[in-house]
Amino acid sequence: MTERTYLDWNATAPLRPSARAAMIEAFDQAGNPSSVHAEGRVARQIVERARAQVAALAGADPGQVTFTSGATEANAMALSPGWSGRPGRPSLERLLVSAVEHPSVLGGGRFGPDRTHAIAVDADGVVVGDALRALLRGVPAMVSVMLANNETGVVQPIREIAEVVHEAGGLLHVDAVQAPGRVACDFNNLDADLMTLSSHKIGGPKGVGALIAKAGLHLHEPLIAGGGQERGLRGGTENVAGIAGFGAAAADIASQRATEAPHLLRLRERLEAGLRAVTPEAIIFGERAERLPNTTAFSHPGLRAETAVIAFDLAGAAVSSGAACSSGKVQPSTVLSAMGVDPALARGAIRVSTGHSTKDQDIERFLSAWTKLSESLLKGRNVIAA
Ligand code: PMP
Repeated sequence: MTERTYLDWNATAPLRPSARAAMIEAFDQAGNPSSVHAEGRVARQIVERARAQVAALAGADPGQVTFTSGATEANAMALSPGWSGRPGRPSLERLLVSAVEHPSVLGGGRFGPDRTHAIAVDADGVVVGDALRALLRGVPAMVSVMLANNETGVVQPIREIAEVVHEAGGLLHVDAVQAPGRVACDFNNLDADLMTLSSHKIGGPKGVGALIAKAGLHLHEPLIAGGGQERGLRGGTENVAGIAGFGAAAADIASQRATEAPHLLRLRERLEAGLRAVTPEAIIFGERAERLPNTTAFSHPGLRAETAVIAFDLAGAAVSSGAACSSGKVQPSTVLSAMGVDPALARGAIRVSTGHSTKDQDIERFLSAWTKLSESLLKGRNVIAA
């Protein structure tokens, strides 16, 4: 294959070498972390070291971290009415989720769709405070708002949201999957009650995630009951190698915090300046809001995302469309719809997302592919606008 440019880090990040090394080491350990013998204790040590690494990334205590099979499961676990440990507080009647959440949150978890309500966002995709306050009036609720959006990169004002939620006696869950290494995701600073992380978005393996819970909060009915693993919160023998890889990736990010985000921001500025220079009519979604330094979601009148993604792929660049395709029918993204984006424009949404190993030449390759595509587009040929 010719040289490739990977610009789809929000879908999944390449495995970090430290994560690969930690996994290979863990694969060679025979023990079950629940066994008391020496082999079991080695496996337990691997899991607990990773727990400390993930906790450190989130500024939490290791005892607050529960490993899961990924962020989807962590979100499902978080969205449960049965969290206790809120003395004097009534039980949680309903769930409020921002209209731009990941599908694993939009579905409502164990609250179910009939008890789940969407919180409106503005044209930049930021939660409307008054809409949240109105929904919270009089009903004890769990609220789920993501720290940063996977499609647009828009960052939510989580601390302000936490204040509103707590004043109303509710609990706040934050899906922080897209944040590590890009924006601060300190659990205590955000004042969240529950927070979700995913391994494969930070350079760990796929199929591992974590739910971080405020000390004292407890879920009596685990999502997956079994042998009492993860302090009874998540049954099933731990994915030791996966967890080890997650921990190593978390440690890498924590140590490179100061350098990664400025590198990403510089690349984003270069990319967006290039986009504007080639096609001044291009629209960057969420542009007026705070955004992740690694994410640009854009569209152009006449652009068809599904055709453009294939054209970029043929030019050697992996990017993503902001549209969801199921049963052959391309639907505009729910995120862009919630932001009130014109459906025709939303159907052309392309997401470019970078990571720590993205280089200037990757941005150049993307821009030269875009220059060619946009020439066809502007000439009205059907390479893009088919
Ligand atoms: N939340 C967000 C914001 C995501 O971007 C994703 C992955 N696309 C998930 C949750 C689900 O993560 P996982 O693949 O670990 O289940």
